[in-house]
Amino acid sequence: MAKNASATSPRTTAAAEDYLERIREVIQRKGYARVQDIAGELKISQASVTSMIQRLDTEGLVKYEKYRGMVLTGAGEKVAQRIAHRHELLTDFLRLLEIPEDDISTDVEGMEHHISAETFRAIEALSRYLHEHPEARSAVITAARAPKLS
Ligand code: ZN
Repeated sequence: MAKNASATSPRTTAAAEDYLERIREVIQRKGYARVQDIAGELKISQASVTSMIQRLDTEGLVKYEKYRGMVLTGAGEKVAQRIAHRHELLTDFLRLLEIPEDDISTDVEGMEHHISAETFRAIEALSRYLHEHPEARSAVITAARAPKLS
């Protein structure tokens, strides 16, 4: 869920971010995105997709034309890029810790929308550190797998 809307930067909900992320992927893959492409990707009805796309259009994140499909505006592209970047980095981070792939995809889809910029930067730094220090990485993995002593 969105936090309090701030006066300076428009806040996007997790659902809106997911749409923008998918729209960007579909456009990169096919060169265009129509309502039925997005409905297929997100496995939801075309009617729900249409109403969300109209909302994103009103918010200035997408430009939607009924028969031509949709494109991301500059602002929409920025949000989509931020989410895609987070998706990549968080996936890499959890892979470093040898989390099972199935958990990684579920966790990343949630985390990418819900962490603050500061937390993200800390994870980014930690990720870099673990790449540079394989022994630290093994120690963390071993500690995470050790039975708890509570
Ligand atoms: Zn994602």
